[in-house]
Amino acid sequence: MKIEIQGLNQIYPNGNHALKNINLEFGTGMFGLLGPNGAGKSSLMRILVTLMKPTSGVVLVDGKDIQKNRKEIRALLGYLPQDFRFFTSLKTWEFLDYSGSLAGLKNRKERIKEVDRLLDQVGLLEVRDRQANRLSGGMKRRLGIAQALIGNPKIIVVDEPTTGLDPDERIRFRNILSQLSQHDVTIILSTHIVGDISSTCQGMALLNRGELVFSGSPENLVKHADGHVFKLTLSPYDYERVKEYYNIISTIPVETGWEVQIVSDNPPEFSSTNIIPNIEHAYVYFMEHKLHTEISD
Ligand code: ADP
Repeated sequence: MKIEIQGLNQIYPNGNHALKNINLEFGTGMFGLLGPNGAGKSSLMRILVTLMKPTSGVVLVDGKDIQKNRKEIRALLGYLPQDFRFFTSLKTWEFLDYSGSLAGLKNRKERIKEVDRLLDQVGLLEVRDRQANRLSGGMKRRLGIAQALIGNPKIIVVDEPTTGLDPDERIRFRNILSQLSQHDVTIILSTHIVGDISSTCQGMALLNRGELVFSGSPENLVKHADGHVFKLTLSPYDYERVKEYYNIISTIPVETGWEVQIVSDNPPEFSSTNIIPNIEHAYVYFMEHKLHTEISD
């Protein structure tokens, strides 16, 4: 399934320009959309799931304009919104059963079979009879992904699914998504947590203040930061000076002062060693530095 986003702009009635000429293309597998709060991720997600019409530009799914083929596109979609909440006294399985009937699964027997298959997939089978609103935060989010998956969608859109989850649940959720991505589906994962973007993502995009800052593979993002991350050992006096001029991304106390890592366009004017960047370094590099210079893949 090929998704093409062409010249997308979203300007809200109050003048907020939430998406600025976004062009992106991706296919089957997991696609990560990374950016800080206010970057425009949710706006893009809402457009992708046809809940909002963009101010200008188009989104094509296998060449079809989603605005002109809403019914058809919606039948392919599963969506876990950022503010997924439910106020229900239904049991967990009943809630999913209800979602299934909304998704058009008419045969009750088959639907219940599918409900249990999904509850098992997201690790909720043991709590199938618990009242859904009594589930823990992480479990509720997993029920959210289960409701997004019912009806076998080909495109799964999950908006900030790991926000507020504890580390265990976050890992669990990531594992569910990466298992899903091995099937013939397109998963669009929006997040402001760099750690959510892993090598499981074939492609990714970095958004900042409505602008596309990077698109490509996570490996490619990291490659851009190569030669721009440095390790320095500093006396307390030099630490203060470095802090003024450079972006410190980690600080570890050592006997003589501090060992710090910085991201910088050029080698710092202090004795330093170059270190191999990771995705966190690359994120900082793009957000703090590259944005002010040139933007490319
Ligand atoms: P993200 O999901 O990355 O946090 P959003 O898409 O929610 O970003 O928001 C992008 C920008 O658009 C922000 O400046 C936000 O305040 C603004 N925005 C979002 N929704 C609306 C709205 N309904 N009306 C006006 N401005 C909005």
